[in-house]
Amino acid sequence: MNDRKRKRIVILGGGFAGVYTAMQLEKAARRRDDLEIILINKDNYFVFQPMLAEVVSGSVGMLDTVSPIRRMLPRTDLYVREVEAIDTVNQTITTTPGFKPQANVIPYDHLVLALGNVTDFRGLRGLPEHAIPFKNLSDALFIRNHVIHVLEEAAIEHAHPELRRQLLTFVVAGGGFSGAEVVAELNDFVRRVIGNYPQLDPSEVRVVLLHALDRILPELDVKLALYAQKIMAQRGIEIRLNTKLTAATGDEAILDDGTRLATKTLISTVPSSPHPLIDTLDLPKERGRLLVEPTLRVRGTQNIWALGDCALVPLPDGKFSPPTAQFAIRQGKTAADNIVAAIRGGEPKSFRFTEQGKLAALGHRSAVAQVFGINISGALAWFMWRTIYLLKLPGWGRRLKVAASWTFDLFLPPELVQLRLTNSTGVAHEHFEPGQEVFRQGDLGDRIYIIAQGKAEVVRHERGRELRLAQLGPGEYFGEMALLNQTTRNATVRCVTPLDVLSIHKREFSVLAANLPAMRESFEQVMTQRRQTTEARLALTA
Ligand SMILES: Cc1cc2nc3c(=O)[nH]c(=O)nc-3n(C[C@H](O)[C@H](O)[C@H](O)COP(=O)(O)OP(=O)(O)OC[C@H]3O[C@@H](n4cnc5c(N)ncnc54)[C@H](O)[C@@H]3O)c2cc1C
Repeated sequence: MNDRKRKRIVILGGGFAGVYTAMQLEKAARRRDDLEIILINKDNYFVFQPMLAEVVSGSVGMLDTVSPIRRMLPRTDLYVREVEAIDTVNQTITTTPGFKPQANVIPYDHLVLALGNVTDFRGLRGLPEHAIPFKNLSDALFIRNHVIHVLEEAAIEHAHPELRRQLLTFVVAGGGFSGAEVVAELNDFVRRVIGNYPQLDPSEVRVVLLHALDRILPELDVKLALYAQKIMAQRGIEIRLNTKLTAATGDEAILDDGTRLATKTLISTVPSSPHPLIDTLDLPKERGRLLVEPTLRVRGTQNIWALGDCALVPLPDGKFSPPTAQFAIRQGKTAADNIVAAIRGGEPKSFRFTEQGKLAALGHRSAVAQVFGINISGALAWFMWRTIYLLKLPGWGRRLKVAASWTFDLFLPPELVQLRLTNSTGVAHEHFEPGQEVFRQGDLGDRIYIIAQGKAEVVRHERGRELRLAQLGPGEYFGEMALLNQTTRNATVRCVTPLDVLSIHKREFSVLAANLPAMRESFEQVMTQRRQTTEARLALTA
């Protein structure tokens, strides 16, 4: 506990739950100067997630779904940092260092845990390396740019029709709200802009939605979900129900029934998992979410509060709050009032809220909605979706911008500019499946690979025969010859077992080799040895 006069409330997370808690606390701080409010968030902006899918299609501008937290919370101290550790014994929070490489430790009197949840690909072969999550603004921007990039590539891919079809196949895993909305927007976008690529045949476009259950949008009434499925199918989305994504490579999505979908675009909104920092806490949890009292205080604690997607919040009817923005906003208000009551003295209130409705946009001016128990679908639901979310968007300036974007979008073709967000593909983790070729003899040498896990074999095709040159395992590398000699690949590398590698682009490799003579020499020695072994083998088999 610190000895300051004002009580310090530290909020972790600047999403719906954290920001709305701070907003309500600011109201209380205006009346009496006894509260110090600190909010720690990775980014300096708040993301209005319900509209994120529209960033993918460009129906709204890139920055229209985000608001600077500083403007929303003028009386709160914002720390744009990543939370690294939470110490509930010494009542401190440690964040990542800034420009100075020193840990930043912030003590608290009251702690609000509002870190949300994460899309966690751990344990799923190849997903951490190759699946794109869809959770925040950077994901939406990445997807948009990637989709434009593959369209540009497909348009000039005349020599390999299989590769062109792979480039034109888009796979989304997870048919909940976020998966359904992103697949609908992506499908709309691709089919609207395909006319700008006269080289491409629209019938080659394939958009696939994978869902583990027997219908999408399980949060909605069955009739609405089936309507949504019908609309999506009519728009050309292929929905695969009772199907799970089990693995991925840079070339394929691998499904639990053994199907392999050749694609260069795999988006996955599942599985949704508890936040890893919440996992580390010695506090009561169920299925990874923090157990709280109806007042939102974490069970068995005095000054720790939890809400939003990272908490399991009980409702008066014995059920738990669903992980949605509507609930997180209301929980924020209750948590703030109860923290103030705990500091100033007063009766805490129990959280109660009756859901007003559920809405999901299906793209192309249609949506499904369940409002006050009534099911609505089609254009009316779409109009309601837009009106309700426009009014919920924080700030009039932002609302005006979105309204303008939507109006222009009705008349103008979608924006098709690809922004290169990074100049280099530098160092990347990649996953390959057994039998898959990492590269082929005769390919251009663009990367060197270091094996982290798994085995690969090196084979040479010589006069119609395949000769096995070596088997490589963890800690070994391959692909150096083409880079050092600036030639094409002189052998094929094929996976024997699932293979995880660290691959380094030739640009970065050349800089390392030029500046680290010892490293270059060691690579050259290995290369010479390998060349001699290969020549000896070839001589034997000649
Ligand atoms: C694409 C999408 C569409 C959605 N559509 C709807 C919808 O239409 N209607 C609806 O009601 N709900 C919708 N939801 C769900 C809704 O957005 C969530 O329920 C809501 O955001 C939960 O709020 P939260 O504050 O608990 O978590 P979040 O909003 O996820 O906020 C958590 C915050 O914590 C920050 N954070 C996480 N880890 C750290 C760290 N280590 N250090 C610092 N900061 C950190 C994150 O950056 C984030 O700002 C949607 C969700 C998604 C992903």
